[in-house]
Amino acid sequence: MTAMFKVVLLGDTSVGKTSILQRYAKGNFKKEQDATIGAHFMSKMVDLPQSNTQIKLQIWDTAGQEKYRSVTPIYFRDAAAAICVFDITNKQSLDNAERWIDDLRNSAPSHIIVALAGNKCDLFSNEEVSIQQGKEFALKHQVEIFQQTSAKEDTGINELFLKIASKIDKNK
Ligand code: GDP
Ligand code: MG
Repeated sequence: MTAMFKVVLLGDTSVGKTSILQRYAKGNFKKEQDATIGAHFMSKMVDLPQSNTQIKLQIWDTAGQEKYRSVTPIYFRDAAAAICVFDITNKQSLDNAERWIDDLRNSAPSHIIVALAGNKCDLFSNEEVSIQQGKEFALKHQVEIFQQTSAKEDTGINELFLKIASKIDKNK
């Protein structure tokens, strides 16, 4: 039997949470994601070459709750990892990540692994947050994984989940 771990996505509306999940679990990208599709998750097996094992990630999407600027604490229950997503073309979404991370630290298990994803890196010509600024934010907030991603172009998505799965595997 493969061990399964819960991973939750959070961050402002429109930063690309649903698109990241869709890209990772289904391998596709849609211009219009349905913001209201019910609270749900998708599962994906991850190969961990360094320990010659596989683990299963059960990745949860906020299903539009984030519009109300908070998610229910139950969402974080039993989570092994959380990914706070911002949009590199929207500085405000990084500023707001501070609140999402505070929420997380208040409601999530204390040993949770936290990752920060700077999404939409395909739109680098409209960049408002550099890689350096993303990394500094992560360091300042004790976020152990930082990754730039593009759900559209499939950049950094596998790397992001592989980093998370490797940390989960090390901690278990
Ligand atoms: P959510 O509200 O955080 O779940 O964001 P969505 O996944 O619904 O995405 C919001 C919008 O941003 C949609 O129009 C997506 O197509 C678009 N989007 C998401 N990820 C990317 C990306 O990596 N690059 C670009 N250019 N657009 C993206
Ligand atoms: Mg969504």
